[in-house]
Order: sequence, then structure tokens, then C-alpha cells
Amino acid sequence: MSNHKLAFLYSPEVEALSYPPDCPFKTQRAGLTRLRLKSFGLLGDESHFEVAPRRATLAELTQFHIAPYLHELQHAADGDLTVDGLGMGIGGVDTPVFKNMFEYGDWACGAGFTAADLLLQKKADIAFNLLGGFHHAMADRAAGFCYLNDVALACMKLANAGKRVLYLDVDAHHGDGVQSAFYRRKDVMTISLHENGRTLYPWSGFEDEIGEGDGRGYNVNIPLPAETYDEAFLTAFDSVAVPLATAFKPDVLVLELGLDILAGDPLTHLRMTNNVVVDIIERLLRLNCPMLVSGGGGYNVENTVRGWALAWQTCCGENEETDFIGMGGVMLASTEWAGGLRDRALAVSTEQRNAVEPELQTTIETVINNVFRLHGLEASSLGRVTSPAGLTKKAIKQKPERSKS
Ligand SMILES: [Zn+2]
Repeated sequence: MSNHKLAFLYSPEVEALSYPPDCPFKTQRAGLTRLRLKSFGLLGDESHFEVAPRRATLAELTQFHIAPYLHELQHAADGDLTVDGLGMGIGGVDTPVFKNMFEYGDWACGAGFTAADLLLQKKADIAFNLLGGFHHAMADRAAGFCYLNDVALACMKLANAGKRVLYLDVDAHHGDGVQSAFYRRKDVMTISLHENGRTLYPWSGFEDEIGEGDGRGYNVNIPLPAETYDEAFLTAFDSVAVPLATAFKPDVLVLELGLDILAGDPLTHLRMTNNVVVDIIERLLRLNCPMLVSGGGGYNVENTVRGWALAWQTCCGENEETDFIGMGGVMLASTEWAGGLRDRALAVSTEQRNAVEPELQTTIETVINNVFRLHGLEASSLGRVTSPAGLTKKAIKQKPERSKS
């Protein structure tokens, strides 16, 4: 075990609040992850503890959202959806009206604030808010299952405390709401890796969206081709996100860990396994600063829960393959896999490589050209990607098949 103090934001009161049954967004994922962690003995001691969130106040929500939008949202939740509310995106296909819509989002934002406070007060080194991750919510608009933007608000709270904040978003969808919140600021750097907006909602997040004014160079988008697989994702992550994160020297990290990036997600077209979750967390831990991990997308519930549990396990410093498989399989609920939390490596076809690699190589080069020099990052970083030993060579290395039990 590492000596990190890990907090898990949870209360049964919040778990009882649901989206409509036909909506793919399932609020129960946080509670299911908690049960998984408890079954593995990874939650429930003095270094790995639960913290009950509080609700956010209206005054806190107005640090990002405009008051008329909050007014319409509350009224819609009470059954009074107006024309103005409809104009603000409330009541769309991906923003259904339901009784708990304001209350759940308010709890998620409050949980984000609680998590930020735990980090600021050094009561935790890493805080998981899997109730949140609503990165599409705009100041004046609901979008993509998101009504209140807990992650933008948490970043603001941390920035207001004088911290340099790195917001890293690996959800399959572009973190457009958070981008809009900090597009002209340089105290919060936002980096989003996501499926290309040509093939996925919210149809944004391209390489040339790099921030404006003071924020120029502090908003970074890395659109990934459909069918992107683990090795290709990691090449992009290591070539762009890691050097920028290191150069930025953040005081605190906010990670939006939507797991609709995993193969088998019904709403997206990426093909990653949860082994990249371990790789992401390990790289971020090396930055050696406090971290807020939020939830996000993830519409295959079992895969998402398992991936989030794996993220927590990695933060605990546990190496599953030695610690869990050796115990003979303590997995409870997976139909896929009885040996632990990790996915098996997925085979990558030649067609898939040929479809992904050239496009991703171009994207990486474009992003580097657009923003690296603004951070004092120069030729050595550029050379790594454009050299003949770049993506193609890395990508053809096969991952060993993981043993099953
Ligand atoms: Zn998503």
C-alpha cells in the first residue's frame, strides 16, 4: 500500500437519487464501486475512508452558472418547465426533466467542493467524487446528461484558493463545459483527450481550440480517432499530456475519469481497455500533487465500476496481478472475468491500426505545434513524435496477454 490518504465521497442519501430509468446515465455506479472496494478490503480504514458530501449552495453554483438558468432548472425539477427553460437545453433528449435533476446535481457539486476542501486542508491526498464529472454543463445551459458542472466549480474553488489547477479530462466526450469556463484563463490548464468531434457528441474539441487572451495555450484538445486502442491512446497521452502537465507544474490535479472510453461502451467508438486507467493514474501520481478524481461518462455499468475500482486500487499502490489473482479470485459480480479488476488485453487488427495511426500522428504533431512553444517546450518533444521511431513503432509492440487466474 502507498501512504496516500484516499477519500471516497459517498452518502446513501445521494445514491437514492436517480435519472429516469430509460436514461443511460446511472447514478448507482458510485455506490457499486464503493461495494466493490469494500469487498476487496480497499475502503474502510484510517487511510482509505468515506466522507459524506454536502449540498452546494445557490451562491456557490452562481460562481459558474447564471442565476436565471439555476432558477429554470429548479422550477423544471418541480414540474414547471417553461419556454425559457427549454431554450436553456432543459428537457432535451439527453437532458430529461425529472424530479431529482436539480438535487442530484447540487449534491454532486457539493461533493466536488467537499473533495476540494479535503485536498486544501490536507485531510486527503486523493479524493474520489464518482457522483460527479458533469463536464458538458454550460454556465447557462444543460447538455449531455449534465445540468450543473461540478468539475468546473471544483477547479474554480481550487483556483480561488491560489492553486495552479490542471484539469485533465479523459472521458470519451470533449469536456466542452469546462473548456468554456477557463478558455481565457491561465491559472487552470485544461487538457481533454476524447473521441474526435467529427464522430461524437458534443462535436467540438479540435486541435485549434487552444484558449484565448491570457488563456492562449492553456486549453488543449487531443481528438482521438474512432477505434483508438490502448497503445495509441498512451502514445498521445505521453507525447502531449505528460510534457504539458509537467511544464505547467500544477499544485493540484482534477481528473475527469469518464470510462465511456472502454471497449464495449454503447454510446462511443473507442476501443481501450481499463489497463490504460492504471497507466493514466500511475503517470499522474508521478506529478506528486493532490488529486481530485471525478466520475463522468461510462454507459456499460459493470466495465465502468470495475475501471473506477481499478483506479482507486492503483492510487492505493496495490498491484492487482500479484495481490489479487494470487488470492484465487475474489471478484464478485463480473460475468467476464474472475481474476481481478483488470481487463484482458484486446487484439488490434491491421485495419484498426491503419485507420488510427496516421490520423493520430497528425493530431499529435498539430497539437504540439500549436501549444508546446507557449510553454517553453521545444524540439526534443517534437522530435520524439515525428521521428521514424514514433507512433508506428510504439504501436506495433504487442501487450502480453494477461493470465486469467
Ligand atoms: Zn462521456
